[in-house]
Amino acid sequence: MPKPDFGFSFAPNRALELSVPLLPEVQAVLEAEPSIRACMACGQCAAVCTAGVFTPLAFYRLVLQLWAGEVEVVGQRAQHCMLCGKCQMTCPRGVNIRNALLLMAALLPPKP
Ligand code: SF4
Ligand code: SF4
Repeated sequence: MPKPDFGFSFAPNRALELSVPLLPEVQAVLEAEPSIRACMACGQCAAVCTAGVFTPLAFYRLVLQLWAGEVEVVGQRAQHCMLCGKCQMTCPRGVNIRNALLLMAALLPPKP
């Protein structure tokens, strides 16, 4: 019997596995900017982000992807940040977002 087409599909499971050790480069970012750990993924930073209107940059998603060890996509997306600071003015947890994004952008090696 064919499966019914509901017009949508379920997203793959992206639950974080907290028992898996962090990658060394992820650990280094978290040690250099410990305020990242305070992010509660409320999305306020993305709602006001200047670059987010034109690019795939959404800081809270990068934090989740960082925890998941997706360093390449984090490095790529962090490079869209314009360092305007609007996100930081609105963050309820006081995350130093600009510094975090600079550290994340450095995860991607510079192009030759
Ligand atoms: S506004 Fe702050 S706490 Fe909320 S998602 Fe952004 S960084 Fe995290
Ligand atoms: S500093 Fe970067 S992440 Fe924050 S609002 Fe500006 S462009 Fe967006």
